[in-house]
Amino acid sequence: MHRFGFDNTYARELPGAYVAAKPAAAPEPRLLFANPALADELGLPPEVLQGPDAAALFAGNLLPEDAEPIAQAYAGHQFGGFSPQLGDGRALLLGELIDRAGQRRDIAFKGSGRTPFSRGGDGKAAVGPMLREVLIGEAMHALGIPTTRALAVAATGEPVRRETVLPGAVLTRVAASHLRVGSFQFFAARGDLDTLRRLANYTIARHDPGLIDSPDCYLGLLRAVAGRQAHLIAQWLNVGFIHGVMNTDNMALSGETIDYGPCAFMEAYDPATVFSSIDHAGRYAYGNQPAIARWNLARFAETLLPLMADAEDEPAIDRAVAAVTEVIDAFPAALAAALLGGQRRKLGILAATPANQAADDAADAALADDWLTLLHTQAVDFTLAWRHLASAAEGRPEPLRDLFPDRAALDAWLARLQQRWARDGGDGGLDGSARAEAMRRASPAVIARNHLVEEALAAATDGDMTPFDELLAALRSPWQEAALQTRYAAPAATEVTARYRTFCGT
Ligand code: AMP
Ligand code: MG
Repeated sequence: MHRFGFDNTYARELPGAYVAAKPAAAPEPRLLFANPALADELGLPPEVLQGPDAAALFAGNLLPEDAEPIAQAYAGHQFGGFSPQLGDGRALLLGELIDRAGQRRDIAFKGSGRTPFSRGGDGKAAVGPMLREVLIGEAMHALGIPTTRALAVAATGEPVRRETVLPGAVLTRVAASHLRVGSFQFFAARGDLDTLRRLANYTIARHDPGLIDSPDCYLGLLRAVAGRQAHLIAQWLNVGFIHGVMNTDNMALSGETIDYGPCAFMEAYDPATVFSSIDHAGRYAYGNQPAIARWNLARFAETLLPLMADAEDEPAIDRAVAAVTEVIDAFPAALAAALLGGQRRKLGILAATPANQAADDAADAALADDWLTLLHTQAVDFTLAWRHLASAAEGRPEPLRDLFPDRAALDAWLARLQQRWARDGGDGGLDGSARAEAMRRASPAVIARNHLVEEALAAATDGDMTPFDELLAALRSPWQEAALQTRYAAPAATEVTARYRTFCGT
């Protein structure tokens, strides 16, 4: 028998917030992907992924004896409409591990069969979408963006019925937690203040323990969650990531990116870019993500109000509403500041001059906006443009200029950037090659391009894992200049991108 060393605080401390359930049996388990580096980070012995039981373990046939599988309850606004009961319809939390850094991490299955929350669904997942979660999650991790991660994917040997019949798979996902905005909405919508309070206290203990003794701990939690989201969304924007389904049940309170369904990276810059086949109105388009994050945070804030003030005490309610409103209203500026911080690194600008902070902030934000407008009007590849900007810092603007049909407009903008560089950092400014190196650490050469992801997943679905393995290796080293010479850095043909659609992984 296997023991993972699980602790199960969620199951222990939050009765009423989940239902115990068991994974479905997989007829013919086969391990498709394993993440030994992550296993090591979690303190799991290598045999777990390499031993004879690995496929059975990660397909759900052989549970570690200390696992306590549960389906978590949550609600959520999906495309703006509220569903009071969603919950883990095809996922199971097995337990938590304390990793080598002392952080508590959830270990959960996705695609492991029906639960009491499955509604009409089969509880299953297909190989393609689960491997997609691996690829994009590992890409995000390599880019330094907070994300859940994949420990393993096992094919089940069972077909799942979607538009076509596909091979089934189970993903094992590692997350700082699976607490979501929707977790709070589930209990707030039912008026179950007792469980809501226990959930909030649990969340604080897990993610913001510094707030435990604070008299304003729930307001503090909102502030902390908003701060994490501001940084997360800014990082998404700075690599061209489009989550695709930012429902409130897919916004993690930990600040990790979670639920890689119809997500995709942008190619040519256009803030209206949306790939999801079901997002007809562009609610979750690239450029809408900040506004949606704010909207989701407002829904989160609403769930906290009953914990902050007694329903009978009107003045207290007014004070609580004012306090949360202030946090929500401050969110766009916090996100803009995080975005500008990232853009400065990508532009090779060290910092604002302290004596001139406000003016520098405004001028640098305008410089970044004008750059994005150039990319937009000339339909330039977002990733390559940022990356080749680094070469321009070394006096080699040709690769950048080659991306732009109208070079005069680019040259005029580059002259402004050069003026900005000239006065950057005062006497401690960077020389060209140091600046270029710093810029190359902020703008990747490789992102998970849609056509490459699709190619890898199609081959994997047909049983050939080689394209997947090679793409994964490329995505794990996104910063290397040499990668620019490989097919992993090249954009898709524009006709391909224009037609590209992603689907929720159901
Ligand atoms: P998602 O779009 O993956 O975030 O899922 C939204 C909701 O639908 C969650 O409650 C999921 O558990 C549920 N769900 C998605 N796919 C399935 C499925 N195949 N079977 C049962 N429930 C599902
Ligand atoms: Mg989800």
